[in-house]
Amino acid sequence: MTPVIGLAAIRAAEARLAGLIAPPPLLRSATLSHRFGVPVLLKPENRLASGSFKLRGAGNAVAALGAREPGRGVVTASTGNHGRALAHAARQAGLPAVVCLSALVPANKVAAVRALGAEVRIVGRSQDDAQAEVERLVRDRGLTEVPPFDHPDVIAGQGTVGLEIVAAVPDLDLVLVPLSGGGLAAGVGSAVKALRPRARVVGVSMARGAAMHASLLAKRPVPVAEMPTLADSLGGGIGLANRFTFALCGALLDDVVLLTEEEIAAGIRHVFAHEAEIVEGAGAVGVAALLAERLVPRGPCVAILSGGNIDPALHRRIVEGRWTDRPAEGPD
Ligand SMILES: *Cc1c(COP(=O)(O)O)cnc(C)c1O
Repeated sequence: MTPVIGLAAIRAAEARLAGLIAPPPLLRSATLSHRFGVPVLLKPENRLASGSFKLRGAGNAVAALGAREPGRGVVTASTGNHGRALAHAARQAGLPAVVCLSALVPANKVAAVRALGAEVRIVGRSQDDAQAEVERLVRDRGLTEVPPFDHPDVIAGQGTVGLEIVAAVPDLDLVLVPLSGGGLAAGVGSAVKALRPRARVVGVSMARGAAMHASLLAKRPVPVAEMPTLADSLGGGIGLANRFTFALCGALLDDVVLLTEEEIAAGIRHVFAHEAEIVEGAGAVGVAALLAERLVPRGPCVAILSGGNIDPALHRRIVEGRWTDRPAEGPD
C-alpha cells in the first residue's frame, strides 16, 4: 500500500512553521525564462536560517514532538544540512540535540552544527555507520530520532515548499526537485499533485551515487556506493527498510534526471553569475538540468534552490573557473 501525505498534514506543518521560517519569495530567472520562452522561477531555500529547506521538515517534526513529549531530546544521522536544521529547530524549542555524522561530511558543515549548540558525533565512513550510532542513543539515552527524510512529519514539513510554489504559480507546468532520500520530493510532490495534478514533478540527482534513482529502477531500496560529488547533500542511501519516501517518490515523480559533476558546477556558476545566489551543488541541480536541456519546460517552471551550505573556497574555485572534476578515488 502506498503511503499518503495529505494536504491537511502539509497545511498543519505550514501553521507550525509560521514562527520559525520566513518563506523565501520566488525569483524570476531572466536568462532561463528568455532561453525557454516560459517563466522560469527559482525558490531560494538557501536563504532559510539554517541554509537549506531542511529547517522545514526538522522544524515540523520538533514542533510535533514538543507538543507530544515536551523536554525529550532529539538525535539524527545526517549528511549535514538536516543535522544543522535539527540543531537549529531544537535550540529554538529548548530541546537538546545530538547529531551523528560520517567522516565524509565537509568540515564547514560539522562546525556549523556544533556552533548551533548540538552535540556532534563523527562515526565511520557512511550514513549506515552514523545511523547505527543513532539507534544506540535512542536505546541508551532515550532520545527521539528525527530522521532526515523517511518520516511523515519531515515529509509534510518539506511539502510546505510545494504549497508556496502552487500558491505563487497558478499555471505551473514543471517543478525540479533536488533528490536524495526523497523527503523533499515526496513532500513537494504530495502538495503539487494534490493541487495541480497536471504539473510535472521531476527529481534531479548527481550521476555519482543516486540512491533513489537506482532503487526506483530496481523496484526496491538498494544500497549504492557513496562517492565524492559536488552535490554532497544528495549522497547516502535511502535506507533498505525505507517506509515512506521510496513508495511516495515512485508514485509522485514523473521522472528522475541524473547529472555529471561538470553540469552541476555549471549550475552553481550560473546561479551565482545571473541570480547572485550562493548555492551548494545539491541546490544547483535543478538549474543545471535546465542548462543541460535534460528537460524542456512547456509552461511556468520552478527550480528549487534547496541549499547554500558550500565551502566558500570550493565555491570560489567553481565560479572563477578554477575547479576541475577529478576522478573519484578508490577502486572501481
Ligand atoms: C537534503 C538535501 C536535499 C535532498 O533532500 P531529500 O529529502 O533527502 O531528497 C537536497 N538539497 C539539499 C541542499 C539538501 O540538504
